[in-house]
Amino acid sequence: MSTVLLAGGAGYIGSHTAVELLESGYDVVVADNYSNSCPESVRRVEKITGKSVKLYEVDIKDAEALEKVFSENNIDAVIHFAGLKAVGESVEKPVLYYRNNIDTTLSLLDCMKKFNVKNIIFSSSATVYGEENQVPYTEEMKRGTCTNPYGWTKVMMEQILEDTAKADADMSVVLLRYFNPIGAHESGMIGEDPQGIPNNLMPYVAQVAVGRRDHLTIFGDDYPTPDGTCRRDYIHVVDLAKGHVKAIDYVFKNKGVEVFNLGTGTPYSVTEIVTAFENANGIKIKYEYGQRRAGDLPESYANADKALKILGWKTEKTLEDMCRDLWNWQKNNPNGYNR
Ligand code: NAD
Ligand code: UDP
Repeated sequence: MSTVLLAGGAGYIGSHTAVELLESGYDVVVADNYSNSCPESVRRVEKITGKSVKLYEVDIKDAEALEKVFSENNIDAVIHFAGLKAVGESVEKPVLYYRNNIDTTLSLLDCMKKFNVKNIIFSSSATVYGEENQVPYTEEMKRGTCTNPYGWTKVMMEQILEDTAKADADMSVVLLRYFNPIGAHESGMIGEDPQGIPNNLMPYVAQVAVGRRDHLTIFGDDYPTPDGTCRRDYIHVVDLAKGHVKAIDYVFKNKGVEVFNLGTGTPYSVTEIVTAFENANGIKIKYEYGQRRAGDLPESYANADKALKILGWKTEKTLEDMCRDLWNWQKNNPNGYNR
């Protein structure tokens, strides 16, 4: 059976993907420096699946340390999740973001070349569509102008991966543009565990529900949307993880570069999603309206037809599933992994 290296695999999306890969019969190796995670998530992946994961504590920027991972395992494909992802922090510390996110990619590509590994899937983001493109986003649209360094690192890494594939006809690269992953594994054993004050909407809502935060501030109610709040394409993290299994099957059978949106294609507003969380869980969320957050686009959602047509993938879970599974994780783990 093939072995997949998950770079940054102890994190939120990586740990859910590990479960789906193991349950589809792949062997999984995780390399992570725990800058935004901890080994407990991988232990819980092992508990959920009853299978073992080889785990390395390694900074992926450190090419020498990374070589050890490649030399000790027969890696057939890499999924590159490793990166810093806080948009606001990236504005304050651009060099940290460019250094970490670009260097992890370059180290991985160097090692892949050295060990003759030809297949890579990259965690890109809807943010690469930038300000110019109109929703719903389709994959053939040109990458746009980003509003922050985090987004630019995604644009640059897509370019780096495309150039690398162009120079090696045996390579297979899949760029997965995620929309807004939320929710948690239905077991409630793994989920999103942000450090400090959550930047993203749903972890914040969950922390209000569990009593860690007093109230939610909804950033802006004067957008040109039906209820004045921003609309996003929220996707259950388990559906997203299953998209990676499809993409792994795809890279083993194809060469060149392919881009896929991973989203549901249906946008929900901030108010709608807060209400959905309340209804799914029977909990009131205290909120108030505040100023717009700099850099937020009024709407972002996918056209998800290409992933269905080529990968045979589409989302299966509902907004209610996302809200229920998020709360199940949060109430069972009020302090996340206690890291
Ligand atoms: P996460 O922070 O939970 O996971 C990223 C993992 O990478 C963490 O475990 C972190 O410790 C690790 N990491 C970071 N730098 C590293 C380094 N130098 N060496 C080794 N490990 C390193 O984030 P996530 O939500 O699971 O996101 C995974 C990927 O998906 C990221 O690249 C992110 O930018 C991208 N993405 C996430 C979202 C989202 O909303 N969560 C949306 C679009 C794209
Ligand atoms: N949002 C909000 N309050 C918060 C966090 C987020 O109103 O505390 C809004 C944000 O303005 C955006 C949506 O929720 O319209 C989703 O934001 P998130 O940061 O989760 O994802 P993004 O789409 O920005 O990547």
